[in-house]
Amino acid sequence: MSDEAANLADVRARIEAAARAVERDVAAVTLVAVSKTHGVDRIGALLKAGQRVFGENRVQEAEAKFPALKAAWPDIELHLIGPLQTNKAREAVALFDVIESVDRPKLAAELAKAMDKEGRRPPCYVQVNTGEEPQKAGVWPAEADAFIAACRDEHGLPVVGVMCIPPADEEPALHFALLAKIAARNGLAIVSMGMSADYETAVRCGATHVRVGSALFGARG
Ligand SMILES: *Cc1c(COP(=O)(O)O)cnc(C)c1O
Repeated sequence: MSDEAANLADVRARIEAAARAVERDVAAVTLVAVSKTHGVDRIGALLKAGQRVFGENRVQEAEAKFPALKAAWPDIELHLIGPLQTNKAREAVALFDVIESVDRPKLAAELAKAMDKEGRRPPCYVQVNTGEEPQKAGVWPAEADAFIAACRDEHGLPVVGVMCIPPADEEPALHFALLAKIAARNGLAIVSMGMSADYETAVRCGATHVRVGSALFGARG
């Protein structure tokens, strides 16, 4: 078994145990394998082990790796999890199957235009800056409801979920609970939260998508 396959089995077992601990159905949790910085051979090892959902944080890097991978493995589902510049909206809409990082009105407008031009409507999540960290992307919690409504009603974006990256030095469960609450009160079924250090906590708090990189691939170089 490859290292990637062994790591995948371990992460999946931990997700299952965390789901069971709170009587959640493990089928309701999707593992997004974060493959940023890693080459196609290592991504291929995960594909051979059965993983199909991947996350990348840069459009350009994903464009270099995923068209060929998608040609070979047509059921890949590729998520954009990093900040998106408005001038890359069209490329993002063309390549990604889910856009997790919708975080400002100008981007929402550009994505709507890009979707019309591409004839492709990848589902979108709104990124919430639950820790209100100035250096981090995402709308602030108090602005989330109005922004989600504007994305749907003004721009006609297919918003189906929310995403967050909690502050590194705070208890993640508080941020996960806040994000789950924002999803629930806006009628959004998808809650993307939890990374290598805290995905089990996220599953216990109701994550439907966990984004795991280093626990699958090892530390990034
Ligand atoms: C890199 C990244 C991850 C994965 O982080 P790990 O700690 O390696 O699991 C998850 N989400 C986002 C937005 C990232 O940029």
